[in-house]
Amino acid sequence: VGFGAHEALPPIVIRLQDGGSLILNGKIDRVDLLDANGTRYVKIIDYKSGNKTFHFQDIYYGLQLQLLVYLDAYLKYYKKTGASFKPGGVFYFRITDPTLALDEELSAEAIEKILYEKMRMSGLLLQEDVLIHGLDHSLAESRSSAIVPVGYTKKGDPTAASNLATEEQYATILDFVATRTQEIGDAMKAGIITPAPYRDGQRTPCSYCSYRSLCRHSYGEAPRWRKLKKIDKADFWESITPKQPPETE
Ligand code: SF4
Repeated sequence: VGFGAHEALPPIVIRLQDGGSLILNGKIDRVDLLDANGTRYVKIIDYKSGNKTFHFQDIYYGLQLQLLVYLDAYLKYYKKTGASFKPGGVFYFRITDPTLALDEELSAEAIEKILYEKMRMSGLLLQEDVLIHGLDHSLAESRSSAIVPVGYTKKGDPTAASNLATEEQYATILDFVATRTQEIGDAMKAGIITPAPYRDGQRTPCSYCSYRSLCRHSYGEAPRWRKLKKIDKADFWESITPKQPPETE
C-alpha cells in the first residue's frame, strides 16, 4: 500500500447538446494514489486557505463541482489506458497553522490529535475499509478519525457525520456532476448570462466576485436573490439516485 505521483491531465472536454464543446483547463492541487490488492484508489485534494467545506447542497445546485469534475476526468482518462482505478475520495485541505489555548497540560500525542482535528479534511470517501484505513491508520484503534470525515458508533456503523459513498453512489454522483456541468455549458452557449445569484444566509457569490461593478446586480435598490431550498445529505442521495422501476410479477 502506498501513495504515488501522477501525470498531468489534458484539458477536460464536455460535449454540449448542440454538438459544441466546453473545454475546461485547470490544475489539480494534488492527486494521491493508493495501490491495494491490484486496484488503484484515486484521492483528489484541493488546498484552501479559507474555511471551505464539502457540502452536498452546493453540489446539488452546481456551486461546488470542481473536485468531482477533476476526479471524473482523472478516472475517465486513465480508464482509456486499461488501468484499474477506483474513486478513493475528494477533499478540501485547509492550509492553516492552528494555535491551541489549553488550560491543562496534555501529552504530545493528545495535542497532536487536537491539531489534526482542527485541520481535518472535508470531503467524501469511498466506503471501503482498505481505503479508509489507508487514509488514517489510527482508525484501527480509534473510533473517530482526526484526518478524514469518518467515525464509527459503538456497534461499528459509520456515524451520521461520516461522509462515505459506496462505489455505486460514487458512480451516481459523478454522473450527476457531469450532467450539471453540461447543463451549465449548454446555458452559457445559449447566451443565458442573466445575473441570478443565490443567497444562503449571509453567503452570496457576489461578495468575492470580480465582476460586481460590471454586472451591477448588487448595486440595485432591492437586488433579487435566488433562494436555495435546503438539501441535506439524505435528500441529496435520494434526489440523485435513479429510481428502481417497480418489480413486475
Ligand atoms: S456580482 Fe454579478 S456576476 Fe458576480 S456573482 Fe454576483 S451576480 Fe454574478
